[in-house]
Amino acid sequence: MTLNRRTFIQSTVAGSAAAAAKPALASPTKNRNSRKSEKPIFVATWEFGVKACIKAVEVAGQGSMLDAIEQGIWVTEADVKNASVGIGGTPNADGQVELDACIMSGPGHQAGSVGAIQDILHPISVARLVMEKTPHVMLVGDGARQFAIKHGLTTTQLLTDKKKHEWLAWQKKQRSLEVDEDHHDTIAMLGLDTNGNLFGGCSTSGWGYKIPGRVGDSPIIGSGLYVDNTVGAAGATGLGENVMRYCGSFLVVEFMRQGLSPTDACQKTIERINELDPLGLGDLALNFVALNKRGEYGAAGTNKGFKYAWATEKDSGINSARSLSEMKIGSDRERGRNM
Ligand code: ASP
Repeated sequence: MTLNRRTFIQSTVAGSAAAAAKPALASPTKNRNSRKSEKPIFVATWEFGVKACIKAVEVAGQGSMLDAIEQGIWVTEADVKNASVGIGGTPNADGQVELDACIMSGPGHQAGSVGAIQDILHPISVARLVMEKTPHVMLVGDGARQFAIKHGLTTTQLLTDKKKHEWLAWQKKQRSLEVDEDHHDTIAMLGLDTNGNLFGGCSTSGWGYKIPGRVGDSPIIGSGLYVDNTVGAAGATGLGENVMRYCGSFLVVEFMRQGLSPTDACQKTIERINELDPLGLGDLALNFVALNKRGEYGAAGTNKGFKYAWATEKDSGINSARSLSEMKIGSDRERGRNM
């Protein structure tokens, strides 16, 4: 029998249930800096993630965790005021909004993703369709758009008047690829259900005024998002090029596997990237959130004031991530130079 992806999904469900019962975390995390939660729990990047997490909790109470991740992220994608995700997102250099998104299911270790898709309000839903209806993991550009339309999604003008005016002004004045903190952000959302299964999703319009066709870290499995149902899940926001070259979210999960708490794993990943990167010295615009199988969660970031959101059935909130000033980045690097 040929093992196509659908038969593979079915054959792995039983295996994943067994794996779910046997956590692979090396030892209890030292939970000095990560918080422990009720289940289900959703954790997401940035303050705006709180509305998405609250929606996800509500949906999880009635539907599946994948519905919860998808519909939670819809909230951010549909918010015209959010300039970095979905409609109202900053366009590329040609004035077109191009979106990246991905979704992962811990059970069965499944993933779907879309890159540089235009005209579709909810790229997270297209990512989910890729995961559930095709043998592929990633579709990009017009192929992804056509696929979405074929599956019943309608097209939407994603460029708002406000963003069009800003783009026209940028064209006249600047036309450079300078990154500024107002022109990129991502919702990366992680979820843990009552059975200890992990899920995640991620959606962004990426780097504002990017070269058309540029795909960031967000839809790249292991970079913008990674879920390992035996250990934990992690997601990223920041300058995608600095996440992609190091498989950032995968690395966070691997550090949790070694026994680090979610916050420490995020910090260690930033420190590792900082050691290796020629830019270094914390000037990398790197931020990670993480959630482990025990329901502990945390975050660390180099962006000033990076915050993350969480919600359970009982409560929700916004926390400050561990900041650059709490890491030993500058001095470690100087030491390395002098060795
Ligand atoms: N990581 C996203 C990208 O590079 C943007 C962000 O999260 O700030 O496309």
